[in-house]
Amino acid sequence: MSAIGAMAEPASVKGWCPGALRPMQTGDGLIVRVRPRCGAISVAQVLALCEVATRHGNGHIDLTRRANLQIRGIDACALPEVWAALSGAGLMDAHAHAEAVRNVIVSPLAGIDPTEICDVRPIAAALEQALADMPALWSLPGKFGFSVDGGGLLGLDGERADIRFKAVAAEGRVGIALGVDTVEGTRWLCVLDRDEAVTAAVRLARAFVVLPKLPRARIRDLDESAFVSLRSALGDDGSAIDHASVDVSASDRVGLIEARGEMIAVGLGAPFGRLTAETLALIASTAGDHAVTAFRVSPWRVLYAAVPDRDAAVALSSTARDYGLVTVPADPIIAIDACPGAPACRSACGDTRAAARRIAAMMPLPGVSSAHVSGCAKGCARSRSADLVLVAGSGGFGIVRHGTAATAPNAYLAPADLNDLPAILRSGA
Ligand code: SF4
Repeated sequence: MSAIGAMAEPASVKGWCPGALRPMQTGDGLIVRVRPRCGAISVAQVLALCEVATRHGNGHIDLTRRANLQIRGIDACALPEVWAALSGAGLMDAHAHAEAVRNVIVSPLAGIDPTEICDVRPIAAALEQALADMPALWSLPGKFGFSVDGGGLLGLDGERADIRFKAVAAEGRVGIALGVDTVEGTRWLCVLDRDEAVTAAVRLARAFVVLPKLPRARIRDLDESAFVSLRSALGDDGSAIDHASVDVSASDRVGLIEARGEMIAVGLGAPFGRLTAETLALIASTAGDHAVTAFRVSPWRVLYAAVPDRDAAVALSSTARDYGLVTVPADPIIAIDACPGAPACRSACGDTRAAARRIAAMMPLPGVSSAHVSGCAKGCARSRSADLVLVAGSGGFGIVRHGTAATAPNAYLAPADLNDLPAILRSGA
């Protein structure tokens, strides 16, 4: 194992994400995060990860907002064994740079979505390969991310990405729209042939690397003149293209989804992104019994299993529900994000997940179709705005409407008074 692979960074160092080769030190040990390739992780890999979490971690597996899976509570002494197990399962990159830069989210139903414009997995694979192979891109900021969206049912427009690929169809031709996220939202720059898209995105990323800018700056942090200079790397005419973002409701993401042919995609949500390794291993084994070879991962903490027919889908979904996963679109848990909170996170001022479960029990709440409970203003669980945000502070929960965890609250609520939330919202807070 390389010296780089042996490094563990403290959580206080900002602007990077943990990996398997570069774990993050937290209060309860190391976080080791694995990045599935092209948005999929095989059933065998999931079982191997569950084994590592049980043997060396705290027995839990988290699904992250970047569609990764992570285990926590690893002791540094156990890292060689953890790495050996993950490597044996094909879950390790060649080196820590390749792992860090391979920050790509992919349409979770790519290739089986009857409404997609094209299967974008070959593009995602080529992009991941280019990122891992090009040292010039390894100095991209740690959180610099890409999204590759086939233009079908479960779109990625609402997820954060620095550079976006989106399949589009016009005049009978399939192309890839290339976009970047700016402070005003996504700017779609051009439409390219499928075989040109990765090369163009790499040109854009390389141009970003050499731009003078603040450390850890992202594309959204560039001023207009830097942005103009960035897009000149594409050699296009500088015009923007129109593309309306498509919002997907959280409830449309779980349950049984018709896929190609007789196939059904079963969306299995992990409440607040967390499952026990025991539960996940059981679900993986059950999925394997129904001819599922891999799970598709998503940035909204739902795993998808493509099963051959409806009977198998109902059976898998029913088992998952028995073990506490979210399988029903009407389950309010799926519309609520909550970080680990106290006591898991030392920065937290409250028990976020207990509060989130109480909010779920109160749903529907007036004017609330999305909610976020955060242990502090950092807002790790959700960066987009939500209809209702509760931010734990020393005096209780700050209440934010239509904002993020960093928005100034317009009311406060003691944890013991959470039952008053519906009345507070009705009063217009
Ligand atoms: S948002 Fe939650 S997980 Fe993130 S630092 Fe604050 S308390 Fe910790």
